[in-house]
Amino acid sequence: MTDADQELDFVEIGRKLFAQNCDFIWAAEKIDGLPPMGPPEIAFAGRSNVGKSSLLNALTGRKALARVAHTPGRTQNLNFFNLGPDLEAPLLRLVDMPGYGYAAVSKEKIANWTRLMKEFLRGRATLARVFVLIDGRHGVKDTDREMLTQLDQAALSYQIVLTKRDEVKLSQIEKTITDAQAVLRGHPAAHPDVIFVSSHKNDGLADLREAIARLMFERDKTVFDRA
Ligand code: GDP
Repeated sequence: MTDADQELDFVEIGRKLFAQNCDFIWAAEKIDGLPPMGPPEIAFAGRSNVGKSSLLNALTGRKALARVAHTPGRTQNLNFFNLGPDLEAPLLRLVDMPGYGYAAVSKEKIANWTRLMKEFLRGRATLARVFVLIDGRHGVKDTDREMLTQLDQAALSYQIVLTKRDEVKLSQIEKTITDAQAVLRGHPAAHPDVIFVSSHKNDGLADLREAIARLMFERDKTVFDRA
């Protein structure tokens, strides 16, 4: 990091970034139905019920942004949201990936989803990072480990976000983070920092926004000149 970077307040930049306009733009059911690549993309993945929709809503300060992803028929899609002062020329795109590990889904649906996800992860040059959400009450499950392995294979930048911090006893918070970090030791491509959030209590959201702002700046030092 240079001296110039250190002067930037990424917490504040992240706050401002997520206070911009944000809107749903696209749902992709198949790999040939993706929106054309444009701004950097940040994807959110995780088991069903991990709190992904709540986090997208909380991050962007909108009550029902990610509701679209919960409407029947769309739960297996990749949903895209533009973010920025000008939604025609967004600074960033958020990608809501379908929740995995949901037992009531047919094998065929799981196979379709797995194919869509793999192809998306491998072929998306604009994908800057995947945040893998893990339920803080339950820790890393086998399906999460499979996801991490997919991300290793796709050679993508990814980072763990623990959710539902408000449901975890204070005495367990450090241990939950350390356990997740221990899992990451087997995944050198993963970002070593683990962020612990509560969408209900607005905890840790500033950390996540900061991480995203830093990442965008690392990719393009002029990105916030347009913000
Ligand atoms: P998704 O399936 O991953 O999109 O998960 P949702 O956002 O729909 O959340 C699933 C359940 O977890 C809902 O009952 C939410 O109210 C709950 N939930 C989500 N975030 C939090 C949180 O930060 N704290 C607590 N206590 N519950 C949460």
